[in-house]
Amino acid sequence: MLSLTVDEALQRASFNLKKAGVEDAPVEAEILLAYVLKKNRLQLHLSKQELLPCSAHDIFLDLVERRCKGEPTAYITGHKYFYGRAFRVDRRVLIPRPETELIVERSLCFAEECKNSGVANLSILDLGTGSGVLAVTLALEITDAEIWAVDFSPEALEVARLNADDNKATKRIAWLEGDYLHAIEGVVSGKGFNLIVSNPPYLNSKDMENLPQGIKEYEPASALYGGPDGLEGYRQIIKKVPSFIKTPFKLIVEIGSSQEEEVTRILEAASLFSEIKCYPDLAGLPRVVEAHIS
Ligand code: GLN
Repeated sequence: MLSLTVDEALQRASFNLKKAGVEDAPVEAEILLAYVLKKNRLQLHLSKQELLPCSAHDIFLDLVERRCKGEPTAYITGHKYFYGRAFRVDRRVLIPRPETELIVERSLCFAEECKNSGVANLSILDLGTGSGVLAVTLALEITDAEIWAVDFSPEALEVARLNADDNKATKRIAWLEGDYLHAIEGVVSGKGFNLIVSNPPYLNSKDMENLPQGIKEYEPASALYGGPDGLEGYRQIIKKVPSFIKTPFKLIVEIGSSQEEEVTRILEAASLFSEIKCYPDLAGLPRVVEAHIS
């Protein structure tokens, strides 16, 4: 077979990925080839005129074919960046989305406000932790906090624990298996949290039907489907929150872009919070709702 340069291989792959309907085909081609060559994307750019060894090209073609058939790039490479760090992902967990980083940003603002008013050593709970990106990132960013993380899936918790190990955060996080706040009830009584974060499954039945094929076939439906109206996770969480509050308190949840009103209504109905606010993601869509008790 004719040898190709890195650049030529990228262009061919990009053409095929685009034909298969993959968005950002050139970027995805680069991520896959960088993974095969064990380089970062800058190193890949610097080697564009080099010849690609046949063995590497064969592996690359195979990965591009898997991507063309719909497998998400993050599952092919086995990792995804979140808040500047690489996290392991596989089919046991949802692939972290960049918009979820807004939960981290809002949590850091809250931690800063607490610090400024003399409150330290926050206790933080992540409900539905999945790959553990929120729990691990918060453990690393808020170094004096005590972190608890819950997931009903033991397989997801295995991935989350590996991510904590990779990031040397294992000793900072207590992992619990179970359904949202029920998981805490079974282990300790009288436990309060200053901050509860969650990216619960929030897609409704119609969203599930209309999911892109790559998500539908590969990502765990249990991490996406939030009941017929998509709001079941919020209802379950908010129902139990009153028993787990330590002030100052914030609940910070990710929402679907059309759920601001409904989630706000569920929070208001709890008659607990002094302030409820929604923040947009980088695309300008409503993405994170925050409820506060001072
Ligand atoms: N943002 C995800 C998606 O649109 C859904 C994540 C969730 O349900 N929490 O695929």
